[in-house]
Amino acid sequence: MLGMVKWNGSSASLRRLEQALERERPSPALLAVKESALVKTPNAGLPPRVDLLRVCAQHGGNPWAAVYLLNASGGYEYSASIAITKTLSRTQYAPAVANTVIWDNTWIDEESCALCGVPSRGPVRCGACRQLVCRGRSTGQYFRCCCGAEGWIKTEGIEHLGVIPRTAG
Ligand SMILES: [Zn+2]
Ligand SMILES: [Zn+2]
Repeated sequence: MLGMVKWNGSSASLRRLEQALERERPSPALLAVKESALVKTPNAGLPPRVDLLRVCAQHGGNPWAAVYLLNASGGYEYSASIAITKTLSRTQYAPAVANTVIWDNTWIDEESCALCGVPSRGPVRCGACRQLVCRGRSTGQYFRCCCGAEGWIKTEGIEHLGVIPRTAG
């Protein structure tokens, strides 16, 4: 029993020693965990629809649009071609109500001109009037514009002006 008491005694002094060491031990550094400041930049996401503006070579340069719709995988697919009427232009395409985007050829598919019906894998950029024109007056790779200009077609590097039409609501 005496041994036990003695043991307890030394145990008590060991505890005191431990407590003393405990006090001297530097308190753990506070981890400077900052709240993640990664807030995604405001992003309206991809527009569900983009209308690319073209004009018709046959119909005096009247405007039409190739409508591309966002698909489930985040790409765009050609859907239809529509004539751009004055009403449409005023209500959905006016700069005050619509946003515009510039596209390269990534999503461009075969489009049929809304006015003359001639299909083409993308319009032609007229070197004279700078409009994107359907191939309604072209023969093969020889392009004729509504503005009177003509020449061999170069298709590389076309930039398409797209309008994100204002939708109801
Ligand atoms: Zn056309
Ligand atoms: Zn032209």
